[in-house]
Amino acid sequence: CDFPIKNVSISKAVVAAGSFNRRFSTETGRKLEGKVALITGAASGIGKETAAKFISNGARVVIADIQHQLGQETAKQLGHNASFIACDVTKESDVSNAVDFTISECNQLDIMYNNAGMICETSPSVADLDFEVFNKVMGVNVRGALAGIKHSSRVMIPRRSGSILCTSSVTGVMGGLAGPSYSVSKSAIIGIVRSVAAELCSYGIRINCISPSAVLTPLLMEELHRIYPGVEDPQLVKITQNTGALLGANCEAIDVANAALYLASDDAKYVSGHNLVVDGGFTTFKTLSLPAPDILFV
Ligand code: NAD
Repeated sequence: CDFPIKNVSISKAVVAAGSFNRRFSTETGRKLEGKVALITGAASGIGKETAAKFISNGARVVIADIQHQLGQETAKQLGHNASFIACDVTKESDVSNAVDFTISECNQLDIMYNNAGMICETSPSVADLDFEVFNKVMGVNVRGALAGIKHSSRVMIPRRSGSILCTSSVTGVMGGLAGPSYSVSKSAIIGIVRSVAAELCSYGIRINCISPSAVLTPLLMEELHRIYPGVEDPQLVKITQNTGALLGANCEAIDVANAALYLASDDAKYVSGHNLVVDGGFTTFKTLSLPAPDILFV
């Protein structure tokens, strides 16, 4: 029962056995049917939006966050397919516990999204770098993500499958967008993903990261209030929206959630070690201040 495609003979049986389930799950519209995800930093912002997206695509989601009350409220709001576990990602035992809780509640862990993050920058200059601040930021953004990678791998490796995600940032791709601690931490995420992908691919586990540009979340608003003291929220929203370059769109949490859904699902079954930049093209070019075209072309 073979049939030829461009001179290559492919067994129908192989096609059916190998890809039907994946095609089914990606074409039904519920791309994470039966999957279980653990998302850190999901009490608010990007993590919360992603949790909602994953649930609407058939997943059960465990929200792990340091904000206990908000985390519980978020889980309640997201319905019976969401649960909350208190977790400070800087404590390895908390992260390990969150993974074990997910297994005991849901029997499996298919998707680990290391999203918890903080900014806490005190100086824009490396010349004034405060190593206490640096250690704090690295503790949450880098060590916290690595702990998530370590403990999710612990349960994914024996199953020979899984998808791990991390939130990096455009500030980790391009210089000049944030202070040194935050930028270094987000660059590190991209490096970690690349190096860990090399090991995990031999177990059938994929790992990728997402680099969003400015998204209006509590984290960004807090940072903007620090940079522009006394400026009102609507003005700060305007400032943020003007940083984008793509006409007619701003980067929103839903754009990151959509990227996470793609990377977590079988739609991305052959994508690993990748940094998916969600920035409307912002980091790919620099606008030049050129003379008007009629001067240029005379
Ligand atoms: P947010 O403030 O809405 O969410 C961050 C969440 O992380 C919060 O719920 C917070 O409680 C949690 N968190 C912080 N420290 C933690 C810890 N030690 N343990 C567990 N949870 C902790 O902000 P957000 O913008 O949604 O941030 C999510 C991720 O996106 C972060 O990694 C951030 O660096 C990254 N990011 C944000 C932007 C942006 O413009 N908002 C852009 C690029 C990347």
